Amino acid sequence: MLAVDGRRRELLRTLGAGALVATVSACAPMTTRGPAYSRPYSRQPFAAPRISMNHVIRSVVGHRPYRPSGFVVKSEHLDGKHIVHNYGHGGGGISLSWGSSALAVRELAGKPPGQAAVLGSGVMGLTSARLLQDAGWQVTIYTRDIARHTTSNVAAGEWSPFSVFDRSVVSPAFMSQFEWASRVAHHAYTNLTGPDYGVTWMEVYSMSDEPFAPDQEEELLADLFPYYSYLGPGEHPFPTRYVQRLVTMRVEPAILLRRLTQDFHIAGGKYVIRSFGKLDEVLALAEPVVLNCTGLGAAELFGDEELTPAKGQLVFLPPDPAVDFMSFGGGKGMLYMFPRTDVVLLGGTFKLGDYTRNPEPEETERMVTEFQRIYSNFG
Ligand SMILES: Cc1cc2nc3c(=O)[nH]c(=O)nc-3n(C[C@H](O)[C@H](O)[C@H](O)COP(=O)(O)OP(=O)(O)OC[C@H]3O[C@@H](n4cnc5c(N)ncnc54)[C@H](O)[C@@H]3O)c2cc1C
Repeated sequence: MLAVDGRRRELLRTLGAGALVATVSACAPMTTRGPAYSRPYSRQPFAAPRISMNHVIRSVVGHRPYRPSGFVVKSEHLDGKHIVHNYGHGGGGISLSWGSSALAVRELAGKPPGQAAVLGSGVMGLTSARLLQDAGWQVTIYTRDIARHTTSNVAAGEWSPFSVFDRSVVSPAFMSQFEWASRVAHHAYTNLTGPDYGVTWMEVYSMSDEPFAPDQEEELLADLFPYYSYLGPGEHPFPTRYVQRLVTMRVEPAILLRRLTQDFHIAGGKYVIRSFGKLDEVLALAEPVVLNCTGLGAAELFGDEELTPAKGQLVFLPPDPAVDFMSFGGGKGMLYMFPRTDVVLLGGTFKLGDYTRNPEPEETERMVTEFQRIYSNFG
């Protein structure tokens, strides 16, 4: 979700502000179809997602690797090894991946390329490994789980590098690292759009009964989200007074991870299934350079006490190609609905410190019920 009040004000000024909004509101018919609700990107009429407990395929759980002070990219020298950490990306790791991994690989600038070990085969491990290969390194990935079984494969997949840190504790140095990583990652993804890597542009609608308020990190990256605007009552089919609209990329994690693994092998990479119980085992590896991309695993392996899980649950419904937009909010908490080529998913839970792995039936029911209400008069 993005909120940029300054631009909103500018937009309203350009349009002639409240008078025009009031005129449009009065004229708009109460239907979600037809030209009344213009869509600047899709240009198709809205289709209502079909949401029902009877259509639930399954519910899944993942643990976002969350650090209030933000993700870690830094070097550490231990027993003659150069270790580069690249972990702790909370709810934005898919989005930040290429940028954060570029920062990690930059830590090796000036070193002649040789053998490197990458720990982890989630999105951070795979993007770090690919960037290392492009820089001339011979890379072995060591991982407890294959990519399909990582948190990265559970991610919903909106390009949105938010829910990554606690604004009240981050440092200015972290914020510039965050902005750099976001911009580089965004640039990299725009070069991967299309079915091959599972990256598609899509409209996102965020619902609220209150006018949208400015948000520091969202303002920082506002220019990365085309077509954004704020719509008032009568200008949109959603069941709240206000809606924020923008276009961003939808990244389908299963497609992306499979394709990156393929690219890694094509570039001569080796893949070893191995779980590291303690740091000594990492220090005994033959490679002099190690990239630590173990996500939440870094809490135990490298003793990071700030790293904590943010449990998220997703509910999967059958795919529906007619639904071509994402939506946020509209109910209790920050629930979201995403259409992907494999499923329509509902999500939005963020339970800090919760390591439990079970999907909670009451959460499944809550999401289905809330979205049924949200879309009951839609389409
Ligand atoms: C429900 C949900 C929705 C999300 N939605 C989005 C979204 O829309 N957009 C977005 O940008 N992000 C989203 N995220 C966040 C994103 O999934 C994470 O930030 C990202 O996956 C972290 O990637 P990673 O590679 O660091 O960690 P992981 O994917 O967890 O990979 C860690 C790797 O390290 C390995 N490992 C760990 N410990 C060890 C060990 N001791 N020995 C050997 N190997 C080890 C694991 O096997 C794994 O291969 C979501 C997350 C969840 C749970």
